[in-house]
Amino acid sequence: MRIRSVKEWNGNGRPLIIAGPCAAESREQLSSTAQAIASIDKNIIFRAGIWKPRTRPGSFQGIGGEALPWLKEIEEKIGLRVCTEVANREQVEACLAAGITTLWVGARTTVNPFYVEEIAQAVKGKNVRILIKNPIHPDLNAWIGSIERFYQAGIEYLVAIHRGFHPLPASKYRNYPNWAIPIELKHHYPDLPIITDPSHITGNRQMIEKVCQDAMDMHMDGLMIETHINPELALSDKEQQITPAELQQILLHLEIHRDSTLPPQNLENLRLEIDQIDYQLLKLLKKRMDCAKQIGKIKMDNDLALFQPERWNKLLAERQLWAEELGIRDAFTSDLFKTIHAESIALQKKLWRE
Ligand code: PEP
Ligand code: MN
Repeated sequence: MRIRSVKEWNGNGRPLIIAGPCAAESREQLSSTAQAIASIDKNIIFRAGIWKPRTRPGSFQGIGGEALPWLKEIEEKIGLRVCTEVANREQVEACLAAGITTLWVGARTTVNPFYVEEIAQAVKGKNVRILIKNPIHPDLNAWIGSIERFYQAGIEYLVAIHRGFHPLPASKYRNYPNWAIPIELKHHYPDLPIITDPSHITGNRQMIEKVCQDAMDMHMDGLMIETHINPELALSDKEQQITPAELQQILLHLEIHRDSTLPPQNLENLRLEIDQIDYQLLKLLKKRMDCAKQIGKIKMDNDLALFQPERWNKLLAERQLWAEELGIRDAFTSDLFKTIHAESIALQKKLWRE
């Protein structure tokens, strides 16, 4: 058993593109959107939510099972593979009964292992394809856990969808992209296709093109883009949906990097330099840790508390000043020294317990 590649998904290995409305609203809305998308590229997978997870009651909750035959019609008459969101066993069974076999698990479902397990059991051993959105919170383990549950249920066609994370207070994004998380996922599962959903990351159609390009620059394997025949009339996620014509323009302008197997010489030289710098950094960190251990012993002998808030505040403020002089970002400096300081305290604590 093995995870299938993008090439096995779409036959050409180019970025895997999924497009279609946030929600199925009518048979006409689905078929006109699908026709316009099919005329761009028949390899695009068509998406539409049928059961919509909404934050507040009273908003449009989706058409429900009635829309399943409309979706199937798109596969049969227009020739696009279709996918929809499922959140429980009943919905999986309704999709399978209607012949819909590409299913995605939403961000609000991935957070809960009970739901994921129920869905994984419902598709176990079946010939289905599963896409798993990241959980709302930046919890890589919950995302990995969900992927593993489907893999263990025998699903080989798996895709992770990076749709961003609960936003930081002052963020311009609807969901903060936090690229470090999909990058870390790629590190764990080099064969797993990961695609980005710029619609839910941005929440705003003006920013979609930029995030699509960011995804390509970050080596993501494809995109899921909410596309509606008439976004102004959309019943959900109106601000972030684009027209098929806009989708075509975005795809046309997308710069897809051909990663040559032989990197240019100047890149190799710079990488070598970075390797040397990193080794020096680690050696210095080791030296710093040895100092911290000696300090730990002195604190122990003199009955001083492990954590000295005054010293820590002074230390951090000083480094922030140095960083500013050097042109290093303040947020990076604080994160870095918080991590270094936490390790010092952990080492000292260990020494006290020995
Ligand atoms: C969706 O894709 O329409 C959706 C509800 O997404 P998410 O689970 O990422 O919020
Ligand atoms: Mn949506």
